[in-house]
Amino acid sequence: MKIHEYQARALLAAAGLPVPASAVIDRADQAAAAFRQVSAPRVVVKAQVHAGGRGKAGYVVLVNSADEAARHAERMFREPMVSRQTGPQGVQVRKILLAPAVEIEKEFYVGCVVDRARRTPVMMASAEGGVEIEEVAARNPAAIRKAWFHPHLGLQRFQAAALAAGIGLHGEQAKAAADMMLKLAKLMIEKDCSLVEINPLVRTRAGEMLAIDAKFNFDDNALFRHPDVQALFDPHEENPAELRAKEHNLSYIALDGNIGCLVNGAGLAMSTMDIIKLHGGEPANFLDVGGSVTPEGAVEAFRIILADTRVKGVLVNIFGGIAKCDVIADALIKAAREIGFRVPVVVRLEGTNVEIARKMLKEADIPQLKPAADLTDAAKLVCAAV
Ligand code: GDP
Ligand code: MN
Repeated sequence: MKIHEYQARALLAAAGLPVPASAVIDRADQAAAAFRQVSAPRVVVKAQVHAGGRGKAGYVVLVNSADEAARHAERMFREPMVSRQTGPQGVQVRKILLAPAVEIEKEFYVGCVVDRARRTPVMMASAEGGVEIEEVAARNPAAIRKAWFHPHLGLQRFQAAALAAGIGLHGEQAKAAADMMLKLAKLMIEKDCSLVEINPLVRTRAGEMLAIDAKFNFDDNALFRHPDVQALFDPHEENPAELRAKEHNLSYIALDGNIGCLVNGAGLAMSTMDIIKLHGGEPANFLDVGGSVTPEGAVEAFRIILADTRVKGVLVNIFGGIAKCDVIADALIKAAREIGFRVPVVVRLEGTNVEIARKMLKEADIPQLKPAADLTDAAKLVCAAV
């Protein structure tokens, strides 16, 4: 789960990191008042969306008056933000943050992620801040300093000090940056994050070290331990189909192709996508209805798949183990009656109660339904159909 910058700033501030005070608005007519509330000669106006690259997209701007703040807020609320991370359709801005503009002397990067290869968190720091860290990693990997630490012991002070020195900081500034890294590492573990990042961490003209942008990603599997974090969830930022699927305990991930997939079991779903590709097709989604699928869940799965207008054919691939084939057949018939199949639906059923299921489907006599002899046959049929 991701959160907005203004929420991340609040988490950092609560953990004792230096973050400038700010105001958040959700309508353009609140911008002028917020500008005055921030009470600085120059104010930074920042769209609150999960996608990064806001600066380059024109959704982080410095303004000198309440009028100017209102004008930019109006534009940001009106026009969806398009950046490299959003896709061409962009994202709708629903909240805007205003904060005193900082006189930046230099931008740094600090961030902590889980290093999967080493199976341990790693704190990273770089003197090349402000730009995407992936870019730095590709162009100049030596510019990123790293310190791995044990999750139970935490980042050690000497490690944080070495990182701060490694990015060229001295004296009080090095101490301040090291202190921020220690607190960040602690937050990472405490809140079960998969990523915490301050980019940029800035040195101001006055020599102060400040966090002026922050990102947090939380491990979804640990969210049950953190009701405070759950409360920060913003459904607007999620793919609506994926949200609906989650409500029905379906694992659904939207993809770019035109063949909808309804499969039980993640492994079978992966091999279904592979065999579709092998026969020249492109899957429109990954969908695992799970082992304990109910007819209602399966009907909902059809609703989600068929709501995607790009879907030109569906492949149902069920291996009846815990899930019974007749339950799926029942769901197929219900879905055909309730939603109606606007595209061909190729069905491959195998396993528990398959004979009953085949009989049910035959008797239901649904014209768009195409039974397949086996998985290869099913893949060929659906690829030909689209
Ligand atoms: P992002 O592009 O979505 O990562 O948004 P950021 O919050 O990181 O802002 C992008 C860039 O805008 C930063 O790297 C800074 O260069 C600049 N910026 C943001 N806030 C301020 C500020 O208060 N003062 C100044 N001078 N520049 C800022
Ligand atoms: Mn940033």
